[in-house]
Amino acid sequence: MSGREYYNRTLDLLRQHHEWFRKAIPLIASENVPSSGVREALVSDFGNRYAEGWPGERVYAGCTYIDEVELVCIELMKKLFQAEFVDVRPISGVVANLVLYTAFTNPGDVMMALSIPCGGHISMGKKKLGGTAGAVHDLAVEYLALDYDELNLDVEKTKKRVERLLDKGTPPKLVVFGGSVLPFPHPIEELADFFKKVGATVAYDAAHVAGLIACGCFQDPLREGADVVTLSTHKTLFGPQHGGVLSWEKHADKIRRATFPGMVSNHHLHAVAGVAIASAEMLEFGKEYGRQVIKNSKALGQALYERGFNVLAEHKGFTESHVLLADITKHGDGGTIEGQLENANIILNRNLLPWDIKEGRHFMHPGGIRMGTSEVTRLGMRESQMAEVAEFMKRVIIDKEDVDKVKDDVAEFRKDYQKVHYCFEDAAEAYEYIKIR
Ligand SMILES: *Cc1c(COP(=O)(O)O)cnc(C)c1O
Repeated sequence: MSGREYYNRTLDLLRQHHEWFRKAIPLIASENVPSSGVREALVSDFGNRYAEGWPGERVYAGCTYIDEVELVCIELMKKLFQAEFVDVRPISGVVANLVLYTAFTNPGDVMMALSIPCGGHISMGKKKLGGTAGAVHDLAVEYLALDYDELNLDVEKTKKRVERLLDKGTPPKLVVFGGSVLPFPHPIEELADFFKKVGATVAYDAAHVAGLIACGCFQDPLREGADVVTLSTHKTLFGPQHGGVLSWEKHADKIRRATFPGMVSNHHLHAVAGVAIASAEMLEFGKEYGRQVIKNSKALGQALYERGFNVLAEHKGFTESHVLLADITKHGDGGTIEGQLENANIILNRNLLPWDIKEGRHFMHPGGIRMGTSEVTRLGMRESQMAEVAEFMKRVIIDKEDVDKVKDDVAEFRKDYQKVHYCFEDAAEAYEYIKIR
């Protein structure tokens, strides 16, 4: 292909992706759709600039407006999270976790977090798995205990594990609460003092639930005892892909230094501007949005359950956040089911269940699927639409109807949900392809 052909091909693929998403039901729990305001920030010239350092103390010229925007972003995040200190420079959730590890641990230290099948993220993973904590920062990762029925931490078992580590002379230096399957608030309050007494920094990875925390709809880790909170800005928080760290003034210097010069050089200034815009939208519309996300996830859980799906934690109303986990082993494996649903334009992901590895299942063909309701909520869907979504899933997986028929019906259903809600301006449709050539 010539340069021109590659150029056209790439732009054409982008356009096709947009066309596809207009007709699909987006249920990936870690994704969301940004507003027109956020998208405008992303194509601005900020994305072509450098601003190493802190606003007002940059080592580059040309930062007059960049500094102001970054200060606006910090001010907004301080308000939303009632945080004394905010660093908006980490360029993703993984980088935010690396900032955490760099600021609060030394290589070789013991860190505790959930295992991946139990809802932990690969950035908290052991060295042998190639996880960021183990493979990049050389932390010795030990697992927090999960209660499989409650889909939440087991406080007593976790304490016993810590005591065993103390007996071995290897106390944890860091505990990271939170995770990628986080349907219920973690018991930080019950465990924070216990961990602090043994000398551990208490952190909370809010990558998934940052938007729900910002609007006061989930838990409040800083008030419950967390020293540090790391986050992604694009999951339940509906900004561009980026990261952040929240903490207390007394930890500000270490975190700043870990971020720069430690973890970033340029920090994606267009994304910082996008985070400021999304945070402003969150300040105005967050409460309404967060409440609807949770109503929708509970409604989707109930509707799937009534149609024969084994959605976990039924006795607790399935979830208190945006995320749901279903054991799909009656119908096939998570990988195959993910593919079948994708063929009907229902986009979600396979997921390990807490007991999958013990039962010999693998992450490519796990026993579960994971769903989140942030993006469909942003598209204006409510509880009754969740029942329709569940029905589409049933037709594919349980009734084994022709996927092309379901796909057509999904596209028809989606026609009424093309705008982004919970934002100030919606001139462009949610997945409109914006051409500026
Ligand atoms: C998604 C996620 C991350 C990583 O976030 P990125 O912004 O994709 O780097 C970190 N921790 C948890 C718990 C996550 O779910």
